[in-house]
Amino acid sequence: MISKDKAKWKEDLNEIYKEKPVIVRPRIVFTQLARLWKGGASLHFFILINPALKDAVPEARYYLLAHEYGHVYKCHILHGIKMLISFWAFFLWLGAAFQYVSVHWYLLGLFVLGSLLYYFNKKVNIAEDEADEFAIKLKGSKVMYNGCSWVGEKLNDINDARKKKLIKYKNYKD
Ligand SMILES: [Zn+2]
Repeated sequence: MISKDKAKWKEDLNEIYKEKPVIVRPRIVFTQLARLWKGGASLHFFILINPALKDAVPEARYYLLAHEYGHVYKCHILHGIKMLISFWAFFLWLGAAFQYVSVHWYLLGLFVLGSLLYYFNKKVNIAEDEADEFAIKLKGSKVMYNGCSWVGEKLNDINDARKKKLIKYKNYKD
């Protein structure tokens, strides 16, 4: 049963891959870890899918796969890594640097690292829009809308972010 479901996901991913090839085709991994991002996430070489969505209807599979594949296609993991590094550096500086540098350098460092963190965090948000755009172009906004609402219902999770997405898909003119 489980492998039959996985085969469908792989087939769909293959279809997308053929249309928009990348150097290394990502693999689908069903993992509880994906619950951190609700439905799914992209780690570039891996597309993580919430196991609760294994038996998703075709539109929901397209919705998740096309969006996550958009992240892979556009190498968004780099934005994520930069954000994590600046996040880490900012808080490291915040917590430790005052022991070693003068107050001027400390504040300057906070400002620079804070700005970087802000900038990369913005990039990550833009990446979300880009992945949606990629997916809409591939599958159409109606599929994205239906897939997104199916996932929301299945996970019992219609939060503000999802509502915003649904409005975006609904108003999109393809
Ligand atoms: Zn995303």
